[in-house]
Amino acid sequence: MRHRIAVVGSGPAGLTFARVLHRHGHPVTVLERDPAPDARPPGGTLDLHEGLGQLALDKAGLLADFQALSRPEGQAMRILDTDGTVLRDWRPRPDDRANPEIDRGQLRDLLLGPLDVQWGQGVTQVVPGAGDGAQVHFADGRQETFDLVVGADGAWSRTRPAVSAVTPHYTGVTAFETSLEDVDTRHPDLARLIGDGSLAVYGVNRAIVAQRNSGGHVKVYAQFRAPLDRYTDLDLADAEAVRSNLLALFDGWAAPVLDLLRHGAAFVHRPLHVLPVAHTWTHVRGVTLLGDAAHLMPPLGAGANLAMLEGAELAESVTTGPGDPDEAVRAFEERMWARAERWARITTAGLDRLVSPDPAAALALFDEVQPS
Ligand SMILES: Cc1cc2nc3c(=O)[nH]c(=O)nc-3n(C[C@H](O)[C@H](O)[C@H](O)COP(=O)(O)OP(=O)(O)OC[C@H]3O[C@@H](n4cnc5c(N)ncnc54)[C@H](O)[C@@H]3O)c2cc1C
Repeated sequence: MRHRIAVVGSGPAGLTFARVLHRHGHPVTVLERDPAPDARPPGGTLDLHEGLGQLALDKAGLLADFQALSRPEGQAMRILDTDGTVLRDWRPRPDDRANPEIDRGQLRDLLLGPLDVQWGQGVTQVVPGAGDGAQVHFADGRQETFDLVVGADGAWSRTRPAVSAVTPHYTGVTAFETSLEDVDTRHPDLARLIGDGSLAVYGVNRAIVAQRNSGGHVKVYAQFRAPLDRYTDLDLADAEAVRSNLLALFDGWAAPVLDLLRHGAAFVHRPLHVLPVAHTWTHVRGVTLLGDAAHLMPPLGAGANLAMLEGAELAESVTTGPGDPDEAVRAFEERMWARAERWARITTAGLDRLVSPDPAAALALFDEVQPS
């Protein structure tokens, strides 16, 4: 008998899960709160690692499509001192496919493919214990029961309370995101400064990172340590006010680096929250979590990769595993927790070094992970 499976959320975790189930011929209901795929800007670029995100795409039968779309040259990384001196200028070999970049929008469209997502279906709650499965409650008051509900609904998951009382906590690091359009035409000096991939500048307890996306689009992140309530009185919709606040905070940095903030159109505030490093729960029949819902960690290149591999592995386990799918979910959770804990430790230590009182710690970290 086919089990009724629902996944809440159409981010990297939910879509990879659904796409691998689809590949195995198993129906799945994808419930997404956004009213349409393009309801919000899709976000910046993602680097997908060979043994993680790329492995997941292989399991989904999409690796060749990814290779055609992705940008291996986007792996390039340049690090500057706050006075503008180039400290590192790393470029990948032409055949380097370890961590190519892809725009989030392109990845989403690739994964969506033939999937029939139910858009505009905000889930408010998941209640386990309805027979062997769980009941999904929707914002419009409806309820529906499934044999397995997979919460892939991100940092502020509405599914998580069905298995765990834990909620994300603030890391002490906040970020403002802005972007530049048509950088090669409109800001050729900045285009040259950024290069083909990423540019990072590390100062005392603060950093500016710029990442090239496709089509001349660049995302810029200003990150620094600050109390969570620092900006409660600032009108975050007032770009000029945010910009002058940030320019004061990064006062004295090289002019071309500050131009990344000066030319940014609008600013989004992203205080960085995380779940505890070793977040686990007592298994609940009929419900599980994937991705950020299970293990939100600092955004240092692992979250989407883990989310996708978990999605692919869970889909394979429930379709090809022997016997009771609940046993497959239990075994999957043990594997997910162990791997996520390792990455949560790495990314937590990484954030401490990248936004640290000693900028040399950031450079040393780069040299450890990217030896020349
Ligand atoms: C600035 C930044 C840069 C990053 N860079 C990288 C990187 O280079 N590499 C990397 O691996 N990771 C990166 N990450 C982390 C990565 O973005 C996340 O780990 C990843 O998106 C998690 O995927 P997910 O599917 O679990 O959750 P999400 O991507 O958050 O998707 C959750 C989905 O669920 C939907 N949803 C939420 N609530 C509900 C609800 N109640 N009902 C229905 N639907 C709901 C949302 O609309 C969304 O579509 C970065 C993160 C940030 C913030």
